[in-house]
Amino acid sequence: MRWRTDTIVSNMMNSLRFLGFLALTGLLIRAAPAAAAVGAEPLPKPNIVLIVADDLGYADVGFHGCKDIPTPRLDALAASSVHCTSGYVTHPFCSPTRAALLTGRYQQRFGHENNPKWLPQDDRVGLPRDQTTLADAMRRAGYLTAAVGKWHLGAHPSFHPNRRGFDVYFGLLGGGHHYFDHNQFKTHPAKAKQEYLIPLVRNETPVEESAYLTDALGREAAAFVERTHDKPFFLYLAFNAPHTPLQSPQGYLDRVRGIADPKLRTYGAMVCGMDDAIGRVLDALKNRGLTQNTLVFFISDNGGPTGVTNCRNTPLRGAKGQLYEGGVRVPFLVSWPDRLKPGRFTEPVSSLDIFPTCLSAAGLGAGGGGAEGARPVSLDGTDLLPHLLGQGKESLVDRPLFWRVGGGSMSAVRCGSLKWIKVKEQPPELYHLDADIGEQNDLAGSKPEQAASMQALVAQWHTGLKQPLWPQP
Ligand code: CA
Repeated sequence: MRWRTDTIVSNMMNSLRFLGFLALTGLLIRAAPAAAAVGAEPLPKPNIVLIVADDLGYADVGFHGCKDIPTPRLDALAASSVHCTSGYVTHPFCSPTRAALLTGRYQQRFGHENNPKWLPQDDRVGLPRDQTTLADAMRRAGYLTAAVGKWHLGAHPSFHPNRRGFDVYFGLLGGGHHYFDHNQFKTHPAKAKQEYLIPLVRNETPVEESAYLTDALGREAAAFVERTHDKPFFLYLAFNAPHTPLQSPQGYLDRVRGIADPKLRTYGAMVCGMDDAIGRVLDALKNRGLTQNTLVFFISDNGGPTGVTNCRNTPLRGAKGQLYEGGVRVPFLVSWPDRLKPGRFTEPVSSLDIFPTCLSAAGLGAGGGGAEGARPVSLDGTDLLPHLLGQGKESLVDRPLFWRVGGGSMSAVRCGSLKWIKVKEQPPELYHLDADIGEQNDLAGSKPEQAASMQALVAQWHTGLKQPLWPQP
């Protein structure tokens, strides 16, 4: 079976076939071949490191052509990775995209469509507790699980990473943080109730910290790799860099001194800091001889906020907060030297695919979570391993990928090379991404039937979603 765009689109107006297509798509996703990567001889379960940048511009890494911000560690990782050139996240801003990443499900299915306000007393505003996380699944599979960095999935103690599958946590529980000012809880307790000034915590204990925050996250992540010996591990390393506030030590600023614009220069320095921190983790893997059998992902949580930090999403249109490519298309690397040959993979992939891919890599099959009943319900992504190995039974090209913001104020779908997008009260737009990655040539007027078909596909997807559980702060 091939998901041919022309065939699909021309048939979508026939409602029976349209519903059949959806059912078949769901079936195919759930039944994606498991662990096709498994070769003749069984290898130990791979370690898994999932690295997430925050608000990184699409064009601001060397492996996407950036010239003025040096990212040597990420570029070296890219050179040894499968570089997914059509990599997407499920939301154009912070918390919802993480909710999908860590559950493997469209976040709108469970109402996590807005950022949670920092409300430590409110046990309703956070990643719903009935959702199984990737950490839950990996822990049940025998992995030691750690989260280092930004959480942003609820402030109430019941949403704490230690209660969402992570054995170990170090970081900032909110949506961002000052990069130098960590110890207000010692000197100005009232001020330390502000989201960006809350104490950093090790598990649930506030800790004093003197390092630049990105350096501290790199140090903690590398230390976790160095000290974990008895089990395979799953490390979720979620930087808040290069999200605002724009703050960097002089050492990183010196590396980008050629950038004239002061905002972009500081932002670029923060990217350098993140690149160094990632390098520390990769060095720790190497020191322990784990590079070959570790599955590493690198993505950004959403597109760059060009108007805020002066970062760049070139050649994409739009920015963080929008459903044009600049809001949701991100750098996307998958490295596993023992199994995956470095190269480029151009079929569209989603952050939703990371959950089933991790399960598959751990030998659990794309939908399973272990013998203890950890099987998450209805994952929305697909196991990428057979596809990245060139063994996929069907192309991912025509798999629909959906987006919705604000309970429906903005929606989009990509299917094949076509992308349909509806922005608030504006008329729907249609773009041919292969020919027009910058979304400049609206085809909605010239291809009304395809636009209508894709609109119907989005409407059908909406029927499986909830309204947002809380408003956008
Ligand atoms: Ca973000």
